[in-house]
Formats: sequence, structure tokens, C-alpha cells
Amino acid sequence: MADDTQKDNRTELLRKIKEEILNGTHLPLYKERVKNGAFPVIGEGNHYAKIMFIGEAPGKNEAATGRPFCGASGRVLDKLLESVGIVRQDVYVTNIVKDRPPMNRDPLPDEIEAYAPYLDRQIEIIKPEIIATLGRFSMDYIMRRLGLESQLDSISNIHGKVFIANNVKIIPLYHPAVAVYNNNMKESLAKDFEILKKFK
Ligand code: URA
Repeated sequence: MADDTQKDNRTELLRKIKEEILNGTHLPLYKERVKNGAFPVIGEGNHYAKIMFIGEAPGKNEAATGRPFCGASGRVLDKLLESVGIVRQDVYVTNIVKDRPPMNRDPLPDEIEAYAPYLDRQIEIIKPEIIATLGRFSMDYIMRRLGLESQLDSISNIHGKVFIANNVKIIPLYHPAVAVYNNNMKESLAKDFEILKKFK
């Protein structure tokens, strides 16, 4: 019974986040979203996922559909998941920044600051056992947020390593975009994804 109540509540809490972002006129990229007739990208997947993937910010395809990782990077992500036998519907995929930065530029510190509380809530609600960060922005944010700043290093030094904080395993991974045109990076990412096999 308690479980059922929690189940209903979880979906409701996530829906509330979506609504807040949709109506988030205070958000730094809200005007840009409206101007472009774009969608915010909240996150997608299993609300009971063991593994949560956190990217950077939506790209063009994502902002046009409201779905995370549905363009070229998404195709890389899908292949990587498939290579280790993980079904995308079983995991939860989201980003730190929920709206597309203009021209796909890197997110600015104030954008990360404004959108990160939604990510914090998503993590709190879904309670993933494993957080796989995709790229340096989410690595940086999550490691600092979970008190791992002393172990933070460049992504080239710590990708594929497993860190633990508050009973959660944090695995920094390269962003799938780096593998779109770079086979070495693709191999490196594929090797790192192997780690996820033992946790699925
Ligand atoms: N890159 C990201 O970081 N997130 C997406 O959703 C798509 C591309």
C-alpha cells in the first residue's frame, strides 16, 4: 500500500516539475524557447530507473520534439545502451539545462544555476542507484553537488571511474556527441559503458 502511494506520488511530482518548467517565465532560456517555438526537454524514461543519465542541454532536435537525446548524440547513446543490453525505456535520461542554449553553445553558469534545482528534484524523486553523467558539465555539477569536488578532475582523467556518494554510484562518461565523428572516442565510450553491465 505504501509503495502504491509512493508510485502515484512519484509520477505526480515529476509532472509538477514539467509544469513548472513549461511555465517558468523566470528561466534564462524561456524567452529563447518561446521565440523559437521550441519545447523544454524535461527528461524521459522509467520513473523507477536504477540508472539515470544526465546530459548537458537539449540540441536542435530535442528542442523541436521535447525529447532528450533524440538527434545524432541520441543515436550514439542508443547504440551504446544496446551494446551493453540496456533498454532505453528502463533508464531515465535528462539534462542539467532543460532549454536549448542559442546555437548549441555551452550552457552558462547562471543557466546551470537556474535549471539545476529541477534536476536535483528529479534525482530526489527517482532515487537512481547509478548516475551516469554525459560530458563535463553534468560531471562537474553532480560531483560538486554530491560532495565529491575533491575527486573532481578533467573528464579525460576520470571518465569510466565509479565514485560513491550518499549510496549513489556516480560514473562520469564522455558526452556521446564526442563520438559522432571520432572513432577513438567511440571506443573509449563503449569501453566505459561496459561498466554499466554489472549494475543493470
Ligand atoms: N546533448 C545533450 O546534452 N542533451 C540532449 O538531450 C541532446 C544532446
